[in-house]
Amino acid sequence: MKIYPIPAFGDNYLWLAVHEGHALAVDPGDAAPIAAMLERHALKLDAILVTHHHSDHIDGIGELAERYGARVFGPADERIALIDEHVTEGSRIELPQLGCSFRVLEVPGHTRSHIAWYGSDTLFCGDTLFAAGCGRLFEGSPEQMWHSLSRIASLPLHTQIYCAHEYTEGNLRFALAVEPDNQALIARIRRVAQLRAAGRPSVPFALADELATNPFLRVREPAIIRRASEHAGRALPGAVDVFAALREWKNSF
Ligand code: ZN
Ligand code: FE
Repeated sequence: MKIYPIPAFGDNYLWLAVHEGHALAVDPGDAAPIAAMLERHALKLDAILVTHHHSDHIDGIGELAERYGARVFGPADERIALIDEHVTEGSRIELPQLGCSFRVLEVPGHTRSHIAWYGSDTLFCGDTLFAAGCGRLFEGSPEQMWHSLSRIASLPLHTQIYCAHEYTEGNLRFALAVEPDNQALIARIRRVAQLRAAGRPSVPFALADELATNPFLRVREPAIIRRASEHAGRALPGAVDVFAALREWKNSF
C-alpha cells in the first residue's frame, strides 16, 4: 500500500492509499482532486474512511461514493450523511483488495465523535494530533483530548502518522517557545524547513519524533511544566492542567 497526499484548500491533505489498482480515500473534503488522481491512474475507489464531521473532511464524500461506488466508513454522527457503515471503538474493517485492515480508536476532543484509523503501522488521525501540535478543542474537554492523545502516544514508536493539515511550521514555532533548549526540536525545525523549502509535505511523521518534540505529548517534562506554569501564572499540578494551559497559550500564540 502506497499513500499519497492530495493537497486541498490551502493546508489540508486528503490521503489516497493505493494498492494494485485499488484505492482508499481518507477524509475527502473535496472530490475533484481525488477524482482526477483516480482517473489519471485508472484506480478503483473501494472505500472512504472518515475521521470527523468538519466540512473540509467530508464534502467530497457524496460525489465520490456515487461516482465510484466506494463504501463509506465513519463515526455515527448525525452531522455526517452518507456513511454506509458506522464504526465505534475497536471496530475492525477488512479491505482485502487493498491488502490491509484498520482498527478504530475513538479520540474525542477536537470534536465529540472524532475517530482515528490504525492499521499497517499507519494512523490516520484527522485533526487530533498534528506534527508538533494538536487540534483545537471545539467540542471536547482538555481531559478528553489529553486522554485521546495519550492513546495515540502509546502506539508503537515507528507508527507513521498521517494528519489532515500542514500546520507543522507554525506548530514548531510554538514548540520552540515552550521548549527552547530541546535539541531534537531544533533539529526537527531544520529538517522541516528543508522539506517545505523543497515544496514537500512534512507529513507523515513517526510517533517517535512526536514524543521527542511535540509539547502536547511532553506535559510531564519538568522544563515544560515550569514554562507552562510561568505563562499561565499559576501552579499546574497535573498532566491535564499542563496540557490545558499549553492549549490555551497556543490559541493566542
Ligand atoms: Zn476539523
Ligand atoms: Fe480539518
